[in-house]
Amino acid sequence: MKIQITLKCPRCQGQNIKKNGYSGNRKQKYFCKDCCRNFIGDHNLTYKGCHSKADEQVWRMTVRGCGIRDIAAITGYSKDKVQAALKRHEFEPFPKQKHYPTLEIDEFWTFVGNKSNKVWLVYAYHRESGEIVAYVWGKRDLATARALKRRLKELRVTYDRIATDDWAAFLNVFSNEEWHLVGKQHTVGIEGNNCRLRHKVRRAFRKTCCFSKSMFYHKKVFDLAFFDIHFGIV
Ligand SMILES: [Zn+2]
Repeated sequence: MKIQITLKCPRCQGQNIKKNGYSGNRKQKYFCKDCCRNFIGDHNLTYKGCHSKADEQVWRMTVRGCGIRDIAAITGYSKDKVQAALKRHEFEPFPKQKHYPTLEIDEFWTFVGNKSNKVWLVYAYHRESGEIVAYVWGKRDLATARALKRRLKELRVTYDRIATDDWAAFLNVFSNEEWHLVGKQHTVGIEGNNCRLRHKVRRAFRKTCCFSKSMFYHKKVFDLAFFDIHFGIV
């Protein structure tokens, strides 16, 4: 039986590779002639955390509701490796369209540690495509509602109608919009999406066995989940 594998450099994905001696535990080492990286082939690793696809694996498991410790336990990566992979991702969701007929806007709260550290995510949602068009973090106040409007402008998104509930900050900020639909009956889509987020980002709502210890990772996971909702990660 003959098994063939194609080796790629884990850093630059190049195939311009030569053998480069043996490691301490007698494993073949390779050297990338393009970027000078030394590595051991994925097939031959003892510690799976060095696998070239390890980061993708972590991201994929995160958006399917696994916490850092779950991922470490299932994959055999170290907890630090999982954390580093989360830190490294640079996925930033962006709107797919330039113009939306109706955008629903709502807010939901989440926390890190205990409920006195509440933060609010205010976001705009397009029901037909299921997109999270824009979002901002902040307190539950006028400034955050304003920040969302600014963010929509920054992203150069235009819209015909805005639908919100009757929270005073929304009424204030979007009061001069030509079409401002107010009332829970217009925001059914986004309320449903809040429920979807609860499944995607298990750490988002109540304190389950999956929770964030720092706001940094908390927000990172949200970025990842939103990107995944739009584009599918890998
Ligand atoms: Zn390389």
